[in-house]
Amino acid sequence: MTTMNSSTETAATKPKTLEEYSESYKNLVKQLSTVSQLERAAAVLNYDEMVFMPGSPETSQQRGLQKSAMASVIHEKSTDLKIGDWIDQSEVDLKELEDRDASAVLRLTKKGFVKNSRVPADLVAKEAELQSRAYMGWVKARTEDKYEIFEPFLQECFETSMQIANAKRDSEDIATYDEMLDQFEVGMASTRIDELFSEVRQALVPLIEKVLASESKPSTDALHGTFDLEKQKELNEDIVKQLGFDTNHGRIDVSVHPFTTSFSPMDVRITSRFREDEWYQGLAGSVHECGHAIYEQNLGNSGLKIDSALSMGMHESQSLFWERHVGLSKPFWKWATPQFNAKFDAEYTSEDMYGAVNAVSQSFIRVEADELNYPLHVVLRYGIERDVIEGTLEVKEIPKRWNADMKSLLNIDVPSDAKGCLQDVHWSGLAFGYFPTYLLGSMTAAQLAHYCHQEFPEMDEMIEKGEFKEIKAWLTEKVHKHGSRYNSLDEHLEDQLGEKLNPKYFIAYLTEKYSELYKC
Ligand SMILES: [Zn+2]
Repeated sequence: MTTMNSSTETAATKPKTLEEYSESYKNLVKQLSTVSQLERAAAVLNYDEMVFMPGSPETSQQRGLQKSAMASVIHEKSTDLKIGDWIDQSEVDLKELEDRDASAVLRLTKKGFVKNSRVPADLVAKEAELQSRAYMGWVKARTEDKYEIFEPFLQECFETSMQIANAKRDSEDIATYDEMLDQFEVGMASTRIDELFSEVRQALVPLIEKVLASESKPSTDALHGTFDLEKQKELNEDIVKQLGFDTNHGRIDVSVHPFTTSFSPMDVRITSRFREDEWYQGLAGSVHECGHAIYEQNLGNSGLKIDSALSMGMHESQSLFWERHVGLSKPFWKWATPQFNAKFDAEYTSEDMYGAVNAVSQSFIRVEADELNYPLHVVLRYGIERDVIEGTLEVKEIPKRWNADMKSLLNIDVPSDAKGCLQDVHWSGLAFGYFPTYLLGSMTAAQLAHYCHQEFPEMDEMIEKGEFKEIKAWLTEKVHKHGSRYNSLDEHLEDQLGEKLNPKYFIAYLTEKYSELYKC
């Protein structure tokens, strides 16, 4: 046996990548990278608008012009007909060699390119125009608490969205709603969601009933008082940095609604918001966005779609993993309570804090719901949008159905449509198929937490000592680094954990936690 150490020999043994082999693929990647850099630049404009930009109408008008110029260049570059030719030739070239990443790049690019080219231009224009019109209709309807103002817009949103989905479908055998779901949760069909959600519903309805009937309720005193905003900001920053948010490659700012945005894995921004009379909403938001950001910071940096998040559900699983399975846990509060007490000159015990942040309270508003009630808010919305799209529910019947489902699922009487079916912005944006990803994310987070505990039997002790590095590295290994290489959440989890999405971990987590906390 000879030792090969000359560089040419080493290169000869290394399999060629498609980029080295195929001129078409090289051109394709160059074009896709340009599009991706432009999209990142557009994200900077957006972030600036939402966080720093002066609020005058003239300023936002100018920013609107910049964004629309950017959008048209991105559209032009991403629909260039050469892309189709390059994909075709690259597929031929790929047959000559083994390159799994290139194969995934081609699959994802082709899917996007082919589907977009199937939608007629007038329908694309209609969608954008309808979104702003329907948004205004929704705001007016909600302000005046009149569903009938929004109803015609919503009807149009459903119809337009269905036309788009039908145009995009590979075949008429694919259900319209499944095509819509695929944009947010790739490869997830509604028959599968029915299965998963029905298990969750059956377990949670009686559990919530038991918890709410319990005589033993944790005190929420620790949440309320007067908390200096600057100190809250400092504490939140300290905590998210310790969890693993990398401030050399990111920043934390303040905005009206907390969110995360990425300009590349090298620059990921998160925002928080604070109120003086209650500190937990601020911290929960920061830890949640920190989870999203850790995902973004640990994706590959090719700028290609393979190195973007798999789906909305997977993204949400990362924020919820940190927010709930770390941030709402007992060991977390053993670690964080002394930091809180020192900052605010308080004397709470970790048990006080654990009880207060986990207290259950019913709300007819989804965004105010806690982790126990939230899933049923999603189940309700999913059922309604699915039934409208499948033609078994009429748009004008939505308020009646909404209120009946709130009663049967959560035992809540909805006081008005503004606080009922008009509370969410999503439908006015034609985002049908988005809601289910929140609950898919919750289930995925619980399943990941289960397997993480299995990997590190001493995980609780690690959290109690503030040692999060290994947990983050495990998530990178199991989730982050794979980007969009899998075809679905189920396929990803099955390959990485040995089991596709299984709601039993989420149900067990909630049942054990709340039965203990509420002694029921
Ligand atoms: Zn989120």
